[in-house]
Amino acid sequence: MSDKRGLGVGGLGLGPESWAPCAGGARGPDQSRERQRADTTPTPNPQPPTPFSPAPNPQPLTPFFPAPDKFHDECGVVAIYGHPEAAKLAYLGLYALQHRGQESAGVCTTDGTEIYCHKAMGHVADIFTSPVLATLPGELAIGHTRYSTAGDTVLLNAQPFSVACNKGRVAVAHNGNITNATELRKDLGRRGSIFQASSDTEVILHLMAHSSERTLAGALRDALLQLEGAFSLVFLAQDRVIVARDPHGFRPLAVGEMEFSGGRKCHVFASETCAFDLIGAVYLHDVEPGEMVIVGPEGVTRERWAPEQARSQCVFEHVYFARPDSIVFGRAVEESRENLGRLLARECPADADLVVPVPDSGVAAAIGYSDESGLPFRQALIRNHYVGRTFIEPSQAIRDFGVKLKLNPVRHLLQGRRVVLVDDSIVRGTTSRKIVRMVRQAGAREVHLRISCPPTISPCFYGVDTPTRSELIASSHNVEEIRRFVEADTLGYLSLASLRKAVDDDQRHEYCYACYTGDYPTELINIEELISARQKRH
Ligand code: SF4
Repeated sequence: MSDKRGLGVGGLGLGPESWAPCAGGARGPDQSRERQRADTTPTPNPQPPTPFSPAPNPQPLTPFFPAPDKFHDECGVVAIYGHPEAAKLAYLGLYALQHRGQESAGVCTTDGTEIYCHKAMGHVADIFTSPVLATLPGELAIGHTRYSTAGDTVLLNAQPFSVACNKGRVAVAHNGNITNATELRKDLGRRGSIFQASSDTEVILHLMAHSSERTLAGALRDALLQLEGAFSLVFLAQDRVIVARDPHGFRPLAVGEMEFSGGRKCHVFASETCAFDLIGAVYLHDVEPGEMVIVGPEGVTRERWAPEQARSQCVFEHVYFARPDSIVFGRAVEESRENLGRLLARECPADADLVVPVPDSGVAAAIGYSDESGLPFRQALIRNHYVGRTFIEPSQAIRDFGVKLKLNPVRHLLQGRRVVLVDDSIVRGTTSRKIVRMVRQAGAREVHLRISCPPTISPCFYGVDTPTRSELIASSHNVEEIRRFVEADTLGYLSLASLRKAVDDDQRHEYCYACYTGDYPTELINIEELISARQKRH
């Protein structure tokens, strides 16, 4: 496909090749002693911070949870075919996929005549009580947990979407981002379509309704061929479940089956295999990029709906998004992350006493770093897993309170130690700086920050919520400048070559790396609108 459009980063004066993997360098004994003395002062930054948009002062406390300094998970989807408790299985699957979206969740089921739906804002466990699940009968179900990547954060945009149209009753749930949705909406609007929500997913249902194909699968094929971007989709009709993946395979979609009473088998689909583990299903394989799987009374049919194209599976699933106990794109996530840590230790060694992960996502890479370097692994930052969005704001400003609420240092492990702090990414840099300060204030003598992927220089348009390019510290600052900003003694990133190696992609080239390279694997026709939609959300 010749539709590659590299937006590049030249306009910002930096390209990936300009990165030195590590900054700060190994310190000699004298420097270490100096550092030790300097650590007695509250601000250990030896040089003034470079000009950079995030203010060097602590973040204001209101809103209490400002835009998190991480890429956001996208959405999670599940589908169940042929189980008398389909709604409960979908609910459990979504419960396991909660990390992929916490804003809203929904389940639609069918008993062969009607499609029943329930969706609400909030967490899966709060939404799906027993009385709610009792209103969702039938043996077929689809479910969705959402973090908005397109469309506003309102209940109207919660998924699945369900309609009665000329192709029958149908519901759809989507993980990804349709990059030409705006143009398609305009065109459909001109042809009389009326939209209920601002989500890109609704476009698919309208395209299906407009299709001249008579069968649901035919209309769906028609619709999919008009879409650009990233989509892993689950559809529910009165007698069947259909799932499909975009031809590049940006977002994952796994296929499984489970046996239940009397040796009956039901078919299950989910964004990650951790959903299968919870319901006792077995992972079989992935839905292939450009493939559609139809499960109906006639059995299971697999067909290609699009010609084969170069794969661009999201590497960030392995770096950060997916749960480490999942298999994603046919690979164990834990294995990838430990590889990242091992390769990071080889590329960016540190003269230190122990390796400490930034929990939870830095844990596996820190284990790999520890294995490779021989430095002991210690959980010296403890995460509070029960932090919610409704925390009562304190009456007076407390320095770095937002990070303290989530993380607390184990002082006796850090006191007087030279610490390798392993995290999966630096986005704006503000949170990393707070964590480095926290570790230092807990008594660490030196803090060597190691990041288990290359610098993040470009936003994602494929279903991941990222800050705008100007907010990404690495889009305009080199490693040494970032090191100074986050106030680490040394800073090291994994190289792109090692990232490829860690996910076994150095020969195959099946992954997307656009947020590290700015080289987007698809044409982004309405890039200005995609950017402006992103800016409205932040
Ligand atoms: S741009 Fe980054 S986050 Fe987006 S799909 Fe590509 S690798 Fe994943």
